[in-house]
Amino acid sequence: MADLFLGISELKGVGEKNIEKYKKLGIKTPYDLLFYFPRRYIDFTEPVNISDIDSEDNYTIRAMIDGKETPVYIRKNFVIYTFLASDNSGNIKIVFYNNPYVYKMILTGDVYDFNGKTRLRGGNIEILAPNFINDSSESKILPVYHLTRGISSNMIRRNMKQAIEILGNEDIESLPEYIIQKYNFPKLGNAIKSIHFPKNQEDMQNARKRLAFDEGFHLMLGMQMMRSNSLKQKTYISSPEVDENEFLKTLPFELTNDQRSAISDIKKDMLKNIPMNRLLQGDVGSGKTVVAATACFFAYKNGVQSILMAPTEILAKQHLETFKNFFKNFNIEIVLLTSSLKTKEKRGILEKIKSGEANIIIGTNAVMQKSVVYKNPGLVITDEQHRFGVNQRKALSEKGNSPHKLVMSATPIPRTLALMLYGELDISVLKSSPKGRLPIKSYAVTGGMRTRVFKFIKNELDLGHKAYIVCPLIEASEDVSEERIEKKSVTEYYEKIKPYFPDTEIEMLHGKMSADAKEAVMENFKNGDTKIIICTTVVEVGVDVPNATIMLIEGAENFGLSQLHQLRGRVGRGDLQSYCILISDNKSEETLERLRTFCKTNDGFKIAEEDLKQRGAGDFFGDRQHGLPDLRLADLSQDIDLFNTAKKEAEELLKKDPQLRSEENRRLKIEVLKMFAKVGTDGLN
Ligand code: ADP
Ligand code: MG
Repeated sequence: MADLFLGISELKGVGEKNIEKYKKLGIKTPYDLLFYFPRRYIDFTEPVNISDIDSEDNYTIRAMIDGKETPVYIRKNFVIYTFLASDNSGNIKIVFYNNPYVYKMILTGDVYDFNGKTRLRGGNIEILAPNFINDSSESKILPVYHLTRGISSNMIRRNMKQAIEILGNEDIESLPEYIIQKYNFPKLGNAIKSIHFPKNQEDMQNARKRLAFDEGFHLMLGMQMMRSNSLKQKTYISSPEVDENEFLKTLPFELTNDQRSAISDIKKDMLKNIPMNRLLQGDVGSGKTVVAATACFFAYKNGVQSILMAPTEILAKQHLETFKNFFKNFNIEIVLLTSSLKTKEKRGILEKIKSGEANIIIGTNAVMQKSVVYKNPGLVITDEQHRFGVNQRKALSEKGNSPHKLVMSATPIPRTLALMLYGELDISVLKSSPKGRLPIKSYAVTGGMRTRVFKFIKNELDLGHKAYIVCPLIEASEDVSEERIEKKSVTEYYEKIKPYFPDTEIEMLHGKMSADAKEAVMENFKNGDTKIIICTTVVEVGVDVPNATIMLIEGAENFGLSQLHQLRGRVGRGDLQSYCILISDNKSEETLERLRTFCKTNDGFKIAEEDLKQRGAGDFFGDRQHGLPDLRLADLSQDIDLFNTAKKEAEELLKKDPQLRSEENRRLKIEVLKMFAKVGTDGLN
């Protein structure tokens, strides 16, 4: 008998080559394969009559094969195989391309279920390259999987069937029995069988619910265990005497109420001797930096070092400038640590950090490297938190003796979701914008308006303002790297629009450029002659150019609402009226509606809710930069109730067994550790 937990090559037909391919999908054992859930299903349970097919659309039919036509050789590597088939109501042609295998496999006289796109041609109905099953198959709902090159859904289905055979009645249950009973869940083994080969929709839904609950449960258990472990840590003791007003009164502006209350939250946290664990959430431009600076001020006054980590070198430098300016009346030593420093310079800075001469250390992830030794780090701040994984956050906090942690995020996550996802963190939110900001005016237009838009931009440039143009990525073949595509897109767009802006300095910004080159471009845009930057979404995060008043986004339909909102946040950062213009040639009413909704509001939280509703959480966090374990099945936008239940049950269970150390929870603990393996399991043991 093959073993679920041995290599995937235990399965028939899986050799060296396929081992590698499966590895790409994260599958090493038959057990892993069982948890590789379908992306969608093809449901053959409700076929239509052939005579009812009246359009070119996706249909399911049940038909008998009446005969085969002779294959037609169009050219080398292009052969058409056609079957003649019928049901009681009419005839249909079933067409396959380059598939001698099905030509042999499908037998005249047999009945099959077909699902595919139809084509009406010269009075004939055809169904093209359909999926099919033999009508006598037991399972009439066929799973479809995410694939990698060289692995087909058919192959996965075959292998899955065998893995399920091996599973048999083996007890792999990890959920406590009382929870299974309470919610009437199917047992894990049955849920696995049903998620891959459901008997009917209801069977599939029950399985999905059970498995999604498991994901939520494992996630919540992990988060809460981390949380309670971090509450056990001790940090340094702060003096209640420190008065932030000593710093705040030197600023050229009054804080907003939200900024005040965030600072008060932070102060309360930092007065405790357990490490702060706070998420500071605020829309772009809401003024998070000064809040962070105030936290650094507390740390400084308490004699400990602060570390501020930014996702890019440009942002780190911008923070350095801002901080130097904020603290110009204080004798606070602020240093910049990035990987592009010259060796000699770097040595000097490392020395300052080690000796404690440096009070605030700002940098990219270079601040986490082993070679950096801190004297007494007491506060760690990460900016644009969603760009860092939990792992990186952990590595940073290990630099010190459990320092306070503040994470700043400009991704406005709906509160319900934030509480669930960042259950391990406390949250402060900056909702209102600093005074004196004019709301950005947003417009959605079609490509036909482009010339007029360019004229409008020209007028703005004549006033001394600046413009960003985000261009869409060119579709490219698979073997071209993303950076190359970026470069090509930007360059082509640049050539196209140059004639419209004859005597204007235009520069390009894309992922293929070195950090230095990017920086030079940003610098010229911020303080030099460059008037227009053509870029991809590299410009997305945090760069501050107060007289940039135009954000033009081409191919706007390609972006999620939250991403558009991030881009829009690049302008409107001074007191000038700013504009965000979306160009889209996509004529679908749905797309236009989406873009119009976006134009109607500047409220990042509203947009986030809407985005979440429209795209589901998987896409919402699309680029996987949120630092959370992947969810395979659960959909945070749909499964909120399920997740809340999971959260409640996780709390209950951890009350009885805080670290899941009991024998009966052994399997559960393994699942939790497995889920967090990729993002880091520190704090779970
Ligand atoms: P973000 O939250 O996107 O990081 P920043 O901290 O960069 O926003 O703030 C955006 C701009 O607003 C900065 O130029 C900052 O100096 C300014 N700012 C912050 N708070 C206030 C305030 N209370 N009043 C006026 N301007 C402010
Ligand atoms: Mg910022």
